[in-house]
Amino acid sequence: MITRDSNTNSLWQESLPVYAPRTTRISNHFFDVIIVGGGITGITTACLLQQAGFRCLVIEAEKLCYGTTGGTTAHINSLLDTTYGEVSRDFGTEQSKLLLHATHAARDLIRSNIEQFRFDCDYRDCTAFLYAKDNKQEEELVSIALKGKEAGLDLSFTSEIPLPANFQKAIRVPHEAAMHPIKYVYGLAAAFEAAGGTILENHSFMTSQRLKIKLEVVTSNGTFSTRDLIFATHTPPNFNMVQMKFIPWRSYVHAFETKNPLPNNVLVYDLDEPYHYFRSHRWKDRDLIIAGGEDHETGQKAGEVHSFRKT
Ligand SMILES: Cc1cc2nc3c(=O)[nH]c(=O)nc-3n(C[C@H](O)[C@H](O)[C@H](O)COP(=O)(O)OP(=O)(O)OC[C@H]3O[C@@H](n4cnc5c(N)ncnc54)[C@H](O)[C@@H]3O)c2cc1C
Repeated sequence: MITRDSNTNSLWQESLPVYAPRTTRISNHFFDVIIVGGGITGITTACLLQQAGFRCLVIEAEKLCYGTTGGTTAHINSLLDTTYGEVSRDFGTEQSKLLLHATHAARDLIRSNIEQFRFDCDYRDCTAFLYAKDNKQEEELVSIALKGKEAGLDLSFTSEIPLPANFQKAIRVPHEAAMHPIKYVYGLAAAFEAAGGTILENHSFMTSQRLKIKLEVVTSNGTFSTRDLIFATHTPPNFNMVQMKFIPWRSYVHAFETKNPLPNNVLVYDLDEPYHYFRSHRWKDRDLIIAGGEDHETGQKAGEVHSFRKT
């Protein structure tokens, strides 16, 4: 089983044998690019660069998908936590259009990687639903819809949602998606290695130092040289000023078996504060609902049991 930076393993981590990279030691220690972090960001970056002709090394402190990617809910959605209205207010409408464009480009990249490298990761197209339960939420929903449309998002109001919840108004957004995140990263990792890339697990980045045109990268398990270094560690190590500006948040996810499964091809969100979200997953012939939400700043709520009860 994959180890995890949490007390509990995720459904994804329990449903797969652990990825075994081709390499545990290497003789040539010079690379064009070293990528630190073996989550979806690191492996995607490494795969793209290796395909473009750069000799890449991924160093991962633990195992692939040890971090956030191993516990994500893998909604590939364009209804983001930061709304298009907020982006438009703070940076202008053109930037909200750019954000939507980038979101769709990410979805398309995932789709084209699956097609190009021919692996299965339970990817499917989905329709997303966002619903409002009262007048205040309805006002927020109408604003989200208006600003989303202004950014170019394909959405419409709907009188039905696939969840047995009371609601006043709802929107539907087609062309979203869901997948098994670890199967996806493993598929890409295999493609990366097949193209000549190297993955070293149990190599924790310690420090780096520039020596003329190259960088010397010191890890817990050896020293390597590279022309360029990319941090895909979620928060970059050793950049203390950046670390100071981050606020850690806690999020809750619960997968449970149900006799009334959600359709396989829907994603559902409410507008509560904090919000909740739902998707389905079929595992070992069992229908599961994956419910998440109740996010809060770490340490700002007493106990986890209360949050799990609410989700
Ligand atoms: C509960 C939850 C649900 C989410 N749901 C969604 C969703 O539905 N849709 C969505 O788009 N996003 C979602 N997200 C966000 C998404 O999961 C993350 O943005 C994404 O997984 C981040 O991937 P990453 O590769 O950047 O980071 P990570 O997956 O955290 O990978 C970073 C890796 O770097 C390694 N590392 C760290 N330090 C070092 C070091 N010094 N040396 C070497 N390696 C190091 C770690 O071990 C880790 O494996 C969710 C997040 C959470 C927490």
